[in-house]
Order: sequence, then structure tokens, then C-alpha cells
Amino acid sequence: MAGRLASGRLGEHFVAGVATPGSGAAFTAIDPTTGAAVGPTYHEATAAEVERAAQAAGAVAGAFAAAGGPTRAGLLRGIAGRIEALGDELLACYGQETALPRARAEAELARTLGQLRRFADLAAEGAWVDARIDRALPQRQPVPRPDLRRMLVGIGPVVVFGASNFPLAYSVAGGDTASALAAGCPVLVKGHPAHPGTSELVGRAIAAAVHDAGLPGGVFSLLHGASHELGAALVRHPAVAAVGFTGSHRGGRALMDLAAARPEPIPVFAEMGSMNPVVVLPEALANRGAAIGKQVAASALLASGQFCTSPGLILWIDGPGAAELREALRDHLGAAVGAPTVHPSIRDGYVAALGEVLRLPVQVESRGQTAPAATAVCPTLLTAAPAALLGNPRLRSEIYGPAVLAVACADAAELRAVLQSLHGHLTGTVHGEGRDFASHGAALAVLRRKVGRLLANGVPTGVEVCGAMVHGGPYPAAADARFSAVGPTSILRWARPMCWQDWPAELLPPELRDDNPLGIRRTVDDVVV
Ligand code: NAP
Repeated sequence: MAGRLASGRLGEHFVAGVATPGSGAAFTAIDPTTGAAVGPTYHEATAAEVERAAQAAGAVAGAFAAAGGPTRAGLLRGIAGRIEALGDELLACYGQETALPRARAEAELARTLGQLRRFADLAAEGAWVDARIDRALPQRQPVPRPDLRRMLVGIGPVVVFGASNFPLAYSVAGGDTASALAAGCPVLVKGHPAHPGTSELVGRAIAAAVHDAGLPGGVFSLLHGASHELGAALVRHPAVAAVGFTGSHRGGRALMDLAAARPEPIPVFAEMGSMNPVVVLPEALANRGAAIGKQVAASALLASGQFCTSPGLILWIDGPGAAELREALRDHLGAAVGAPTVHPSIRDGYVAALGEVLRLPVQVESRGQTAPAATAVCPTLLTAAPAALLGNPRLRSEIYGPAVLAVACADAAELRAVLQSLHGHLTGTVHGEGRDFASHGAALAVLRRKVGRLLANGVPTGVEVCGAMVHGGPYPAAADARFSAVGPTSILRWARPMCWQDWPAELLPPELRDDNPLGIRRTVDDVVV
């Protein structure tokens, strides 16, 4: 392994830690600017490789879960160090495969390393297991109470699917992988076909870090593939205990259905597409309609609209400032030059989604320019009447790319009706001033039930990685609205509660022993100590 570390992209994946070229269907990365193949040829993992990787993950799951927080913390820090050491090689590959700018690559790398190190701290500190001890009450009447001790434990092997638009932070070593490893779960990554080289470099770093930590190779596998069959085979494998998915609604839902149809159903934590409605209330509209239009357009244009938090829907109540808001949206989206998306499939998806929407009662208010690049897309402002939105569910779901749908409502009741018709979204943004928030409490109460994160007077793009963050929301923003995919609480997706009753003290996990050798915060007889 060590001799290969500096070897760059070799077209390999990692089956239970072992580098292999694979032998299934061939594919390559695509340079989004030229449309030409770049990097080595990759091969989809075969059924035998899926079997080897999943069996190995299942075989080591118990030992990895029992290895203890400090060991897992060491692994996560080792992964961060190995990835950091890739330096320019990784950033150059990221840029070549995605056409995303260097500054974005650097920021995403910093976020990825930060996530890995934060989960290392969480695993090392150990209190995330939420240990609760209810000591025996042998004298209690009418029946004695047994000794009961519970904590969270890793659920078992997790399959991770990353999204195309975050080749680092939501991919091979992204938040799902970091949180699952911190929880003590082996990870099997289904590599995203849009960035196989970036995936390979990171996968090699993780496999090396697993080796450095003295852990078995089954703790981590990366399997490349460009067909849905590979992902489906992983989700169906009996050794797999849970799935983390970031991507489209269609893909996430397909995997949820597959997981539910297994003889032994497993949870799928899917983070999917979102329109992220922006509501502009009357005083804000009157005072800064134009500025809000400019701000929302800039947010929608970031990374060619390739953010799950991109604002794809803006609503207001007609009145003073509405013309300025509309004009600002029209001017800024109309003057923009759409940059390349990360892959031809994303460009094709955008064109197809716009085609679907344009068959419905919507108007094209303005179209921008398309950069001279193979995967570039054209920024688009659409308008629709509230009735059109209410009558056509397609207008209430994501167009992935730089498109904004603007809807002017006649009054507060119509705004409330439109909000009521929305499905779940990751975020909801409200622009309001003065009495706006108080006067529109009913509409805001509706919006609150639809989203995972509410923002005032800002834009939804930009997701802070911290304990208070909620990156999720009611379906289909997320498969399960009770969890966040970002921040330290995202570890809870990969854990289940386990109770030990009257268990011999010397055989209890350290987190549950009377002497609390790890010194973690616990609840003992309902008191936090
Ligand atoms: P995608 O096409 O759904 O792909 C994601 C992964 O799932 C890929 O590895 C893909 O591989 C696999 N996949 C898709 N459909 C599948 C199926 N039916 N069966 C098995 N595997 C399947 O998503 P994307 O184009 O990469 O990303 C764009 C989408 O992600 C947007 O909708 C965006 O809003 C969303 N996103 C959401 C978040 C969030 O946190 N909520 C973050 C970023 C992006 P194969 O195609 O090889 O099967």
C-alpha cells in the first residue's frame, strides 16, 4: 500500500482495503469544459467484489464497534492527515473532473478535513453515546427494579452514496463516511461516476489510514461504478445495515424503496433535492425589493445552481417594490453567463427539467448566456401564477441548476395556500422588516412545518458545519426529518440504542461502568453527572 501512495490515479478501487483495478464495465471521468475523457479508465465493481467488500465489512463490524472511541478518533485524524498530504494533486484532479474553481476546491477540502477532525474529537470524547444508567432497586415495592444501562452503539456496515456536486465534502471521505466511522460502522462507498479520480485519491488515503491504524481492511471499501445496479446490489446485501445517500430525489427514493423491500429492511438516510422557497414580505419588499432580487439571483447562480440549498422558488405578495424585485431578478439572471456543470448528466438533467416545466403554464422571464463549455447551462428566470403552482406538482419540485421560479401572490391568503401546497424542503427563507413577521404569523407557521432550517433576511446557500445546524427536513428534503446530515448530531443516524440488564459489571462497555473510566457525561438515576 505505502509504495503506491504517491502514484496518483491508477483506475483502482479498494475492496476491503485492497487496491484492485476491477473488471466490470469501463467508464472515465469527463472534463466538463471540453467534454473529453480524462484520467484513467475505471471499471465498475463486479458482483464478486461487492460480495467480498460487504462480507468483510460485516465480519469486522463487531470488532470495529468495540475498538473504542480513541481508536476511531485516531483513524479519522489519520484519514484527514493522509488527505491533506495529497495537496495539489487532489485539488488539480478535483478541478479537472468538475470545472469548479480552485477556491471552491480549497474551501471544500478545508470543510472535509474539518469534519473528519470534529468527528475524531467527538469519538475521542465519547459522550455522544448518551449513556444512561438506572441502578437496581432491589427493595422497591411491589417489584424490584433490575439494573439497566443503555447507550448508543454503531448500527453496522453503512453504504455511502455521495453527490456529484460535492466531490469531497459529500463523497468518499465526506460527512456520511466521517460520522459512520466515528460511530464505529464500517463504510462501503459507492463512488460517484462524475469524479472517479477524486474518489480514488481519497479512497487510497482512507485505505492507507485504516492500515496505519492497525485496523482490518474490511472497515473501508470504495467501489466504482456508473450504473444503478452496483448501488442496488450494495443496498440489497444482507451484511449492510444502513444507507447514507446525497443526491437526487429520484435516486434517493429508488434506494429507499429497495431497502424497504429487503427481507430485512434497513434505514436509508437520503438527503435529496430542494427548492428552498424564499418568501418576501411586504415591508421588506417595499424597502429593498431590488436588493433582495439581486441577492437571490446571486445565490441561485453560485456554482451554476449546483447546491442543494440553491433558492429555486421566490414568492411575494404583490405591492410596492414587487416590480423592482422582479426586474432585479430578470436583469441579474438575464445578464449571467452559466458556467459548466460538473458532468454532462447534470447539464442533460437541467435541460430535461426545464423542458418538463416549460410544458406547464409558466413564462420564461429572462435567459442568460451559456459559457462555451461542454456542460454549461443557461440561467433562467421563470414566472408562474399561484394557481399554476397549486395545480402542477412539478412546479413545486427542484430544477437542479441555475433556474428560479418567481410567483407573485395576490394576498396573504394566497401566499399561505401556496406555502401549504409545498412538500418538504431543506430551507425556507423569509425577508421581513418592521411588522412583517408579526403580521404574517399564519404563513410563517405553515412554512415552519415544511423546512429543516428557517432563515431571516439572507440566502440559503452556505451550510455551516456545527452542532446547531439542521441539514435535512420533511420528506423529500430528507428521508427522515428527525436527523441532520451535517454537524455532529449526524452521527445519530448510524447508531441504535442498546440496553444491558443486570449484566456482569466487568463485562459492561467502559461507557456504562460504575467507575466511568472514560469520564464522560452520563445520566445516572435520571441525574446528569
Ligand atoms: P444522483 O444522480 O441521484 O446520484 C447520486 C448517487 O446515487 C450516484 O452515485 C448515483 O450513481 C446513485 N444513484 C442515483 N440513482 C440511483 C438508483 N436509482 N439506483 C442506484 N443508485 C442510484 O445525484 P447527483 O446528480 O449526483 O446530485 C445532484 C442532486 O443531489 C441534486 O438533486 C441536489 O439537490 C442533490 N443534493 C442534495 C444534497 C443534500 O444534502 N440534500 C447535497 C448535494 C446534492 P449511478 O448514477 O452510477 O447509479
